[in-house]
Parts: sequence; structure tokens; C-alpha cells
Amino acid sequence: MKPAVLLCLCLAANAGVAAAAPDPLTQPPPVACKLCAEWNQPAAPFRLYGNTYYVGMHGLSSVLVATSDGLVLLDGGLPQSAPLIESNIRALGFKLRDVKLILNSHTHFDHAGGIAALQRDSGAMAMASPSGAQALRQGHAVADDPQAGYTGDTFPPVPKVRTVRDGETLVLGEVSITAHFTPGHTPGSTTWTWQSCEGQRCLNMVYADSLTAVAAPGFRYLGDKDHPDVSGQFRASIDRVAALPCDVLVTVHPDVSRLWERLDAHHKGATPDPLFDAGACRRYADDARRGLEERLAQERAGTAK
Ligand SMILES: [Zn+2]
Repeated sequence: MKPAVLLCLCLAANAGVAAAAPDPLTQPPPVACKLCAEWNQPAAPFRLYGNTYYVGMHGLSSVLVATSDGLVLLDGGLPQSAPLIESNIRALGFKLRDVKLILNSHTHFDHAGGIAALQRDSGAMAMASPSGAQALRQGHAVADDPQAGYTGDTFPPVPKVRTVRDGETLVLGEVSITAHFTPGHTPGSTTWTWQSCEGQRCLNMVYADSLTAVAAPGFRYLGDKDHPDVSGQFRASIDRVAALPCDVLVTVHPDVSRLWERLDAHHKGATPDPLFDAGACRRYADDARRGLEERLAQERAGTAK
């Protein structure tokens, strides 16, 4: 995936405007953006591996982990994605009220937008990094988010949010899910990992957050007189994702890690099976590193948009 394409995804998204909101908790307003309809195309849910299922849309990921003590859901898509995610959970034979935790990658409207409705309908607790939790509670990006300048990036606020620490492991039933803070795309960005097993074979599952260096006009990753240089922190996040034990990678936008192509090849019996790829995180990080360095070069040259 070329960085230029990633850039285009996010910029187009942020050209959007939120529709007028009556009451975001009882009736989440759909968000309008150039790519929203395409992202929100329904997708049939499927098992990724073991107790891990894809319950998201065609262009926005949502992942379900089933444990003996309830369900964990990762991300909620757009506000208008919530009913699709809920029907995917039910189609797999699970009950919405069994969702105990909703974990978030980052607090932009296309990944956090459906969480308030999913929480209302399931009673689950939402969990995020401290910066992510602040954004979830207020329903918009924190002030030091590179995309905070896009005023259209709002979403229904999430009332019940707990914070996790970097490296903290959440245990539900026999599953342990670890939070890895990967700041850069947003200050609160979090990548989540766990293991899923089929018989004796356990694989490392990675739900990787966005690593794209996309900012509203005026923001500089290299910092300026009012803001710190966050480029080193961003590079460390990319290195961190590259180094994760990684057998099954799902990125928050599934096409960024070619999920649908890989799934298709998996169904056709390709060997090696591209759904299980120990090099996927490293390659994802390599693409992100190229994108970040390109952006930093533009900032140095004064040509960054
Ligand atoms: Zn984003």
C-alpha cells in the first residue's frame, strides 16, 4: 500500500461534516463524508482464527473476541456502522448483551463513531488510553491530535470509559488482551494484541492502529514554537508495531493490510495461507515509515499541506 493512497483515505474522510445531531445517545446521527458510504458497505462476518471474528464493514474494521466470560469488541466504525456490527455479532450466534468490553484503536469518527450506540445496546465498558478516553468522553479529538483542526471530526460521546495503561493486559475468561500505545496518527492511538487458539495451535493476533502521518493544515509533526516535535515518538510507535509477534494482522482500515484479497486467497486454498503471515506487521510498519519520512521531508521543505 503506497503512502499516497493512505493519505488520500484520511484527507477525504476529514473533508466530511457531521450531520446536525438531535440526541447522539438515542439517535446517533449518521456522519457524512466522501468515503463513508463506501466504508460502511456491509460485510458478512467470518472467523479470522480460533475465537476471533471479523464483524466489521467492508472498509472499517471491527473485531470480536469470544471468551468463556463474555465478548470483547474492538472498534465501532461510524455512528451508522453500529447496527451493522450488531447484526454481524448476532449472525454469528452471539448475544449483544454478552459484549463486556469495547476497546478502541483511535478516536476519529470512523472508528469511534459507533461505540456510544454499541455501549448503550450491550452495556459494555469502553476502554482506551488516557488521551483516547478523554476524546471518547467528549466526542471529538483531543487538542494535540494532528487532525484536531478538522472540525467535522465529531462523534457521539461515550459515557462509560475506563483507561488502560501502556502494556496493560486485560483478562476476560481465558483471553488476555494487551494494550500497546502507538501514538502518532493520534496521541492516544493504541494497538491491541492477544492469542487465539485452535486446538494446540495458538496464533498471535494483532489489531493494529493507523500509522498514517495525516494532519490538518498548520500541524507539524516536527513541532513548532507552540508544539513539541512528535516525530520521534511516531517512529518509535512504528518500530513497536514492526516488532510485535504477529501471525494474523487486522488493520483498522482492512484494505490497508489487504484483508479482502488475503481472505479470498485463503478461501481458494493458497499456500502459504496469506491470512497467517508472520511478516505482515513488519511490512505494514515499513509502509508507514516511508509515509512518515515523506511527510517529514515535506515539512522540512515547507511543502506539507
Ligand atoms: Zn484516523
